[in-house]
Amino acid sequence: MVKKFGDTVVLNGLNFTVDKGERVTLIGPSGSGKTTILRLLMTLEHLTDGYIYVDGDPLTHELRNGKRVERKAKDVANVRRRIGMVFQQFNLFPNMNVLENITEAPVHVLGRSKAEAERRGRELLEQVGLGDRADAHPMQLSGGQQQRVAIARALAMDPEILLLDEVTSALDPELVGEVLGVLREVARNTDITMLIVTHEMQFARDVSNRVLMFDQGRIIEEAAPDVMFSDPKEERTQAFLQAVL
Ligand code: ADP
Repeated sequence: MVKKFGDTVVLNGLNFTVDKGERVTLIGPSGSGKTTILRLLMTLEHLTDGYIYVDGDPLTHELRNGKRVERKAKDVANVRRRIGMVFQQFNLFPNMNVLENITEAPVHVLGRSKAEAERRGRELLEQVGLGDRADAHPMQLSGGQQQRVAIARALAMDPEILLLDEVTSALDPELVGEVLGVLREVARNTDITMLIVTHEMQFARDVSNRVLMFDQGRIIEEAAPDVMFSDPKEERTQAFLQAVL
């Protein structure tokens, strides 16, 4: 895939595959393209060239009669809804309470009944340790609690793929643990494919099966977390890990 912002080439011929159920962490210096990859998967950015496939289905573009063509919005939406994302800044709807935040998309996008969406929403709130905060508004919650709601909201759509974009970076240090704890449980108890951008290397080591090291829009090294974090081969990986660990 290729991604440019104007004349700036951010991803140039990047090609990688994530297996079903795999949990892959993307590491690398700021500006190396990690967030752009997640945003492309979420269709929040337009892919300049190339293709993205979700379990064989083209996401935004497909090759038809030898030509690269854009897919219809309805087709894009059908593939795109199999992917969920949790953002650094939570992005909860400020005017809705916690339960409404979680049930909005299942009702309006998946067409679930309100009762069913609420039942599932409450179950997910229990799972993220917020069973008693269904009626609260985001503003009344700590950053860690808001992020746990955002995780429940993503899970409420039953995603096959979950994208986590530096989900603890905006949190006070004492709130990081509760969010990572919830995500560890998700990793342990589900087979959701996960793409994770994080600076929390211990978390990456614990939950991921594979780590990809990015530099200037390319994967310069990939390895199992144990190998990547204790015995990186590339000099640039060594320098990066020395700076963050
Ligand atoms: P990372 O997540 O690894 O820090 P990003 O994917 O955020 O990297 O950014 C990759 C490059 O793309 C950076 O050089 C950044 O400045 C550029 N970039 C990201 N978003 C935009 C945008 N909306 N417009 C222009 N340039 C952008």
